[in-house]
Amino acid sequence: MPVIVRDVAVKSVLTKSNLPVSDYSANPYTGCLHACKYCYASFMKRFTNHPEEWGEFLDVKTWPEIKHPGKYAGKEVFLSSVTDPYQPAEKKYRRTRALLEQLQGHNVKLSIATKSDLVLRDLELIRTFPDARVSWSINTLNESFRAEMDRAASIERRLEAMRVFHEAGVRTTCFISPIFPGITDVPAIIGRAKGICNLVWLENLNLRGNFRGVIMSWIHENRPELEGLYHAIYTHKDMSYWNELDMMMRDYCMSNGLPYVRNDDSMRRDFDAPPVVVNYFFHSEIVRHKKSPCRE
Ligand code: SF4
Repeated sequence: MPVIVRDVAVKSVLTKSNLPVSDYSANPYTGCLHACKYCYASFMKRFTNHPEEWGEFLDVKTWPEIKHPGKYAGKEVFLSSVTDPYQPAEKKYRRTRALLEQLQGHNVKLSIATKSDLVLRDLELIRTFPDARVSWSINTLNESFRAEMDRAASIERRLEAMRVFHEAGVRTTCFISPIFPGITDVPAIIGRAKGICNLVWLENLNLRGNFRGVIMSWIHENRPELEGLYHAIYTHKDMSYWNELDMMMRDYCMSNGLPYVRNDDSMRRDFDAPPVVVNYFFHSEIVRHKKSPCRE
């Protein structure tokens, strides 16, 4: 499918954020060619009048040089809430890198979320930001399921990028999201990531967007044995799967010497200590409370 790419001039790339984790968010692109089937950000299609399918358009933003980058000193800046700042197009357009260069040296607290290893290109730049944090979303170790759900880097490439950042002394997060009931093996993912990350975030799949039909059809066709479970959770709002997984993770973390907390990643430990596991199963309540539109 051909991808429609446009240049779009915007007044500013940084916007005040209502997310619990950041003061500002920055989206150097509109659209995302990773095209995840469950993308929470696909509502941007409506807001930007794109008739194309999500994953088939990309607006490449340009903005005037940030005049007073010092005003972001001490503020948490999150890249990105509705796109992947290191999707493959970044290799050519370098808009994420341009933004980092404009913010560099101003004591900005940088937080990056991606499903790519292109972020390795900017490792030296990122590590100049004090206390920078980079997270990779991983919700399976099964590459076939991964390829069914997204067009991003393989899981092995994400884990390798996490390892390189961790060994370079940059704080890393393994973002286990979205957790697909009956499919995502959370302990197995933690087992792969726990030596190379400082935080593990757990976030459940929500099906409030218009991708609900896509996911339910995929389950119907590919995992019919799970259809009853998905209807219980997403039609009848039965929370028992999440409550049981919550208890199971509490036990798992206790027996593996990992701190386990709910909705709070403020616990800071030595860089080399085992990661803190944070349960965000119910974080949508917090996000709604803070009137946030979306978080990747
Ligand atoms: S979930 Fe993230 S990586 Fe996937 S399409 Fe959406 S913005 Fe891109």
